[in-house]
Amino acid sequence: MAKSYLNYIGGKWIPAESRLTFENRNPADGRDLIGKFPESSAEDVEKAVAAAEQAYDRWRLMPAPMRGEIILKAGLLLKEKKEELSKIMTHEMGKVLRETRGDIQEAIDMAYYTAGEGRRLFGQTTTSELKNKFAMSIRMPIGVCGLITPWNFPTAIPSWKIFPALICGNTVVFKPAEDTPLSAAKFVEILEQAGLPPGVVNMVHGGAPAGEAIVRHPRIRLVSFTGSCEVGRLVAQQCGKMLKRCSLEMGGKNAQIVMADADFDLALEGAVWGAFGTTGQRCTATSRIYVEKSVYQKFSRELVKRAKKIRIGYGLKAGVEMGPVINDVQRERIHGYVQSGIEEGAKLECGGRYAKGPGLSRGSFYIPTVFTHADSKMKIVREEIFGPVTCVMPVKNLEEAIHEVNNTVYGLSSALYSRDVNRAMRAIRDIEAGITYINGPTIGAEVHLPFGGVKNTGNGHREAGETGLDIFSEWKSVFVDFSGRLQKAQIDVD
Ligand code: NAD
Repeated sequence: MAKSYLNYIGGKWIPAESRLTFENRNPADGRDLIGKFPESSAEDVEKAVAAAEQAYDRWRLMPAPMRGEIILKAGLLLKEKKEELSKIMTHEMGKVLRETRGDIQEAIDMAYYTAGEGRRLFGQTTTSELKNKFAMSIRMPIGVCGLITPWNFPTAIPSWKIFPALICGNTVVFKPAEDTPLSAAKFVEILEQAGLPPGVVNMVHGGAPAGEAIVRHPRIRLVSFTGSCEVGRLVAQQCGKMLKRCSLEMGGKNAQIVMADADFDLALEGAVWGAFGTTGQRCTATSRIYVEKSVYQKFSRELVKRAKKIRIGYGLKAGVEMGPVINDVQRERIHGYVQSGIEEGAKLECGGRYAKGPGLSRGSFYIPTVFTHADSKMKIVREEIFGPVTCVMPVKNLEEAIHEVNNTVYGLSSALYSRDVNRAMRAIRDIEAGITYINGPTIGAEVHLPFGGVKNTGNGHREAGETGLDIFSEWKSVFVDFSGRLQKAQIDVD
């Protein structure tokens, strides 16, 4: 019988008030039921908020270095259990083991980085325009934060939100994605083992109703959301109405440029990894590739050859390079995009169908797909597909390539392959994206740098790095007047 899992509220593992559950299945084999998880509603969110509020003062007043020590301990536990957690993640999410190891590693990196912030959380001290007056700025926590995450980085993305929220002194109501609740539960178990006091992090499983209840809750002061633009827009609208702070990390339509002067093999390798790594289910996945005309034919030909060789299968099997997509609904959606590409006149060079064969027929597998003869009017070039599908298109020169890269509503990641430093600097300056890689693929963020995108990818915030702290804290300016008399700023200036 499948194991039943619970919510985590006020330091206790409890079922949803309704006792309703949802199933979590292995995307590589739909017969394999991993477990049942609570289908939470507004009532569960209410309980979680009450627990987070109760824990807030004690947590807020704990010195930040001590909060950092708990986060460090969580990082060490993640490291100790890295292999076990990675396998659990591959089982429920599908990406291959070396990638799920990377996911856990990202959470470890984030724990170590954030733990150090406990002894920084720097503000500024500065001068005053008045005599005998001292001025500084300090960070304040915000209160109870609602964190809503997607399934493609089941541990890394929650860690990018939970650790910075905690180090700043906030408490948390966390709602993980329905497709990866077990990785989330394991992560929360580790936080508990690390000594996090009850109520500081609360987890409610479930889908849109639980997410909506978080967004609408009047005592949740901040919503940090990562997911699709569609849902992000709803979150922003509701938060806007309530004047609630919200940070959004959403979709991408990331492009790689390949100039004729590039290291050809390196650019090819980057494109294969960027387009088909994580089965194309990364917000930073390479779904458009613009290649200078003189090398376009050769590049497309070689990319198709490489795509055809990718070994598909269950991510825990040795030698498998690409796992399934997350579920059948997503696979149908991807296939719908492929059909639209064909109908709109793009040339399907390989893939474009469900994978069949031994070990594949019961999972949500899709064959790596490459289109040529595509253009910016087509849906496959305009919209985020979130699957193993990429389009290769010729360009005259760098100017045209940058114009095409920017010809999208998104702005997350981008890459240029060229040996010419002048071109590299122009691309860095002119590409409208939150991230630009030179001679590296569009995927590969590191936790100590800002992460996020421009245009419809986000709403101006950046996770990770020092900028991540700005999401989870409010600035306060502090003036200490030790003159012993009333001094008037801007008036007592003579
Ligand atoms: P999604 O928008 O469907 O779901 C994201 C989360 O929101 C889930 O936890 C879901 O249960 C919850 N949710 C759904 N409806 C809701 C509602 N009405 N109110 C509140 N919460 C609700 O996204 P997904 O399919 O889980 O993830 C894929 C998307 O995430 C892609 O668009 C991808 O680009 C994006 N993504 C972005 C980043 C980034 O940092 N920019 C990183 C990873 C994924």
